[in-house]
Amino acid sequence: MFKCAVLHVLRNMQEGYNPEGGGGFICDICMNSVAVESMHAIAGCFHEYCKGCLEQHILVHMESKNLPVPCPGMECGNSIAVHDCTLLLCNQTDVHRLVQAS
Ligand SMILES: [Zn+2]
Ligand SMILES: [Zn+2]
Repeated sequence: MFKCAVLHVLRNMQEGYNPEGGGGFICDICMNSVAVESMHAIAGCFHEYCKGCLEQHILVHMESKNLPVPCPGMECGNSIAVHDCTLLLCNQTDVHRLVQAS
């Protein structure tokens, strides 16, 4: 039963689309089914993650001064443009810190 469920999740991950989740996408970071409007495609490589995960990802890299922020995609090599980051950060203070650090 459990194994079956895992296989099902893996299949959804590969397709990046969950037909039983109300038409949402699966975010590769949190593995949640996310509505299309809550996803953000990174400019340059078009990897898609939910906005909440990307915001956290950006904040973590800002804290460790690892800029520009790399795409969370495995072996992607792309970085998230400052403009993209500013769209994802809810807190204006974080936006200012990022712009100043870049
Ligand atoms: Zn997510
Ligand atoms: Zn990427």
